[in-house]
Amino acid sequence: MSKYWTPLASSLEPYVPGEQPKDKTYIKLNTNENPYPPSPKALEAMKEAANADLRLYPDPTCEELVQAAANYYGLSPKQTFAGNGSDELLAFAFAAFFDPARPVLFPDITYSFYKVYAKLCGITPKLIPLDEQFQVPIDQFAGDHGGMILPNPNAPTAILIPLDQVRKLLEANPDRVVIIDEAYIDFGGESAVKLVPEYPNLLVIQTLSKSRSLAGLRVGLAFGSEELIDGLNRIKNSFNSYTMDRLALRGAVAALQDEAYFQETTAKVVATRDGIIASLKELGFIVTDSKANFLLISHPSYSAADLFKQLREQGILVRYFNSPRIDNYLRVTVGTDEEMAQFLKVLKRLI
Ligand code: PMP
Repeated sequence: MSKYWTPLASSLEPYVPGEQPKDKTYIKLNTNENPYPPSPKALEAMKEAANADLRLYPDPTCEELVQAAANYYGLSPKQTFAGNGSDELLAFAFAAFFDPARPVLFPDITYSFYKVYAKLCGITPKLIPLDEQFQVPIDQFAGDHGGMILPNPNAPTAILIPLDQVRKLLEANPDRVVIIDEAYIDFGGESAVKLVPEYPNLLVIQTLSKSRSLAGLRVGLAFGSEELIDGLNRIKNSFNSYTMDRLALRGAVAALQDEAYFQETTAKVVATRDGIIASLKELGFIVTDSKANFLLISHPSYSAADLFKQLREQGILVRYFNSPRIDNYLRVTVGTDEEMAQFLKVLKRLI
């Protein structure tokens, strides 16, 4: 606490990000990064941008990237928005669409940043418990509320909500904004972006951090009705109109245009994931039905907290959440086949 802080700053419990160790010898399976490098075309585009106009401010409207993202999904640029990672877009969306006078609905197990933004915006979350199998009870996302946010697939459960269920949410809540956070959608889900033309209350948020291997660049995209995109622009232009830098703008466009590389690396991650799920089940682990680039796993006979520590001592970083209902689970990012083979080898020695 500080006497210089506002009551708001004093009341915050800021998010603690996953560890980014300086020691590069760890097998890093703790923050859901892609094990493959970004598209070579994106790297080339950024080199060119670095040699060109860094002296000048970037385009405040992010026009080229917004156009490329709109083209990718067959939407108009007026239905598309870009920012510094989806975390920034989530913060803008909370400020733009969630009225502090009403509770906002979250699943009770979800991306833990949401409650931090809620606090920052003075919003009270209303948590809707997942069922025994960690499925989202869609029918309970209704009633008198100020909007809702759901990651799809959910994090850290990795479980997908099928598109017909997303449609149900939108139909049941026409007067409130429904945010679908699709950080992991490319690893096996069907995107709700195709529903944007039908539902003015839908905002879909995506990131280039996971399936496009650009976590270090910070690029997020949002898709919604013109009315919602206008709302995001009101917040952005009241905060920092030059949000995205020139390197990110160029790299993101090139990454979105390299479909072949995206398909190839995503397919590799999915194949590795499906193989490791089978091996973990053979070892007696409970593994959720992951449609993401990570797994949520638990062993009935071993403590997740102990396994986390022991794996770390053996040079493998995974994520342990000391939170209710998942306190005996580990979240494990899908790495390369070689990394996962090493993970399994170490795990077999520990159990
Ligand atoms: N949403 C979810 C569900 C996430 O897990 C993450 C990554 N931790 C993000 C959003 C943020 O991703 P980024 O800011 O890198 O786009």
